[in-house]
Amino acid sequence: MHPLLAQQIKQTFGLDAEKLAAVLAELRPLGEDKTLSGQAAGLLAGLPAFFQQTDQHYAQNECELLLFGTVFDRAGEAIVVTDAQGLITNVNPAYERITGHRREEVLGKNPNINKSGRHDLAFYQDMWGQLLETGHWAGEVWDRRKDGGLYPKWLSINAIRDASATLTHYVAIFLDISDQKDAEHRLERLAFYDALTGLPNRLFFRDRLAHAIAQARRQGSQMALLFVDLDRFKWVNDTMGHAAGDDLLKEIACRLQGCVRESDTVARLGGDEFTLILTNVDHSDHVAMLAQKLIAAIREPVILLGQNVHVGVSVGIALFPKDANDMETLIKYADIAMYQAKGAGRNTFRFVSADLHAKAFNRIAMEDDLHQALQRQELIPYYQPKLDLATQRLSGAEALARWVKPDGSLVQPNQFIPLAEETGLILPIGQRILTIACRNTAAWTQGQSLPFKMAVNISSREFQQPNLLEQISHTLQETGLPAERLEIEITESMVMGNVEKAIAVMHGLRNLGISLAMDDFGTGYSSLGYLRRFPLNILKIDQSFVRHLPGGQGEGAIVDAILAMAHGLGLKVVAEGVETEEQLEYLRQRECETIQGYLFGKPMPEAAFLTFLRQYTG
Ligand code: C2E
Ligand code: MG
Ligand code: MG
Repeated sequence: MHPLLAQQIKQTFGLDAEKLAAVLAELRPLGEDKTLSGQAAGLLAGLPAFFQQTDQHYAQNECELLLFGTVFDRAGEAIVVTDAQGLITNVNPAYERITGHRREEVLGKNPNINKSGRHDLAFYQDMWGQLLETGHWAGEVWDRRKDGGLYPKWLSINAIRDASATLTHYVAIFLDISDQKDAEHRLERLAFYDALTGLPNRLFFRDRLAHAIAQARRQGSQMALLFVDLDRFKWVNDTMGHAAGDDLLKEIACRLQGCVRESDTVARLGGDEFTLILTNVDHSDHVAMLAQKLIAAIREPVILLGQNVHVGVSVGIALFPKDANDMETLIKYADIAMYQAKGAGRNTFRFVSADLHAKAFNRIAMEDDLHQALQRQELIPYYQPKLDLATQRLSGAEALARWVKPDGSLVQPNQFIPLAEETGLILPIGQRILTIACRNTAAWTQGQSLPFKMAVNISSREFQQPNLLEQISHTLQETGLPAERLEIEITESMVMGNVEKAIAVMHGLRNLGISLAMDDFGTGYSSLGYLRRFPLNILKIDQSFVRHLPGGQGEGAIVDAILAMAHGLGLKVVAEGVETEEQLEYLRQRECETIQGYLFGKPMPEAAFLTFLRQYTG
């Protein structure tokens, strides 16, 4: 290409060499440089005299102008030429195509007839400032087409000066970049929004939260983070199908958004986890009110597959800066508060509390410790003897878990069993206690015909294990303990969830030859109707009733009633927590079969228990 031409086009349009090459490709029929052909050659052919008369330099310029005119007409970019006052003197066909304005309509007008109204005064002031100072401006601008439609364009403007440096024209060249923008926008949506609900996703949520925290910090204001968890989503998904599950999530997303201000953020973190970021929170009461509003909104039935479905929700709340001073802690606390809300029952909300901070901290540390304790075999059974009141002989023992720390200190089960239940660690812990208790009992009772049963507690998590029966019978086989020597203690609460299934499991255990005891009787549902249907051998009266014996009429009456009822159902009774001779005497008179308590013996480690056992068995 002729360097002069390249330079001229470059000056006028601000096009770089590559761009220019692309534009010129459109002019291929005209030929590059001076080898004019086709239309251009034809035009030039009409001017042979002129061409021959003028000097070479002038002729060259004419050629270039001609080329230039073709570029102007054929360019894909819109080109607008204005005079020094900024009034349009020429536009090209691409301009007409992009803006919808015909050339005649815009000549003599200001290009701002296309203004979108999207940019403020400062934007245009900056543009003009730079243009006057450097002679060039380029950037993205939103404009309006003749039909009113908005579109983004990449605009490049050059100020043209003549030989004496007087500003004569402005030339603007622009491209419609809607397609490019759409693609960008779609990519952005994919990266930052949840495809199902259209809510911000986890990534965007974190971005907004960081932003909200920074803003609150700057303004000295308060903000709230809410974690929202649906309690029946899995059920809907499993029983009604994924399409119904999706509909449910969309509906919930909509209801959540309906509860907050436009400046607040509702996001979906995945699954049925939603979060809300509330900015400028004046008082925590307002957050509580909003949480109530959310709960009420979600509580309304959702119609799925033509059915009314009720879903509940749990909401956990943490406040910045009151509860946490950084993002990660705030998220963690809102999450903990949500679990607390879940634990407190459906359709509740909880603020994270100072107490909860400490608990959560302890919990995390404790969970870790418990894991290690299990690995280091620090969890072992202690054994508490049971006395048969009729024969005054030892009739068995209960295995009670203890955590013996390396320094020799003991941790009681009520300090770790609930956590173990929650985390699922109870499964390996329970299995370990069962195995050791069975192995010890097998060794102690081998070759003896004494009546001695080892009672082992199982938790509801263990009770719900589908392979519970296989595991227990495998443990019996492995340890060589006859099933008749094992007693399993269950509690009322763990069987009340699904009574029929529980009854089937109990029958399974009985069929193995194992005895079944109902522990802590009187503290749970104590439903006589069910009790009749449970294949039990033993009722254990909870120690809270035994503690006040003989006491006044009230306490005695409960124990009397339980004994009468149990005997009526053909069950034997163990009284727990017997600490005094008076209690023992009271129970003996009412034909309670067995007692367990500090009076007869405390829970003790294996070696001590063996000594205790030998005293009774000689
Ligand atoms: P539980 O099964 O009702 O056990 C009886 C509890 O009463 C034991 O508490 C025992 O030490 C205590 N106790 C016995 N006699 C007396 C007495 O005369 N006075 C008083 N004040 N207390 C007495 P422990 O060992 O702290 O166990 C608490 C609970 O932890 C147990 O209640 C049981 O529900 C659970 N647990 C213990 N070991 C295991 C286990 O291996 N697995 C499961 N799932 N739970 C266990
Ligand atoms: Mg027990
Ligand atoms: Mg008990």
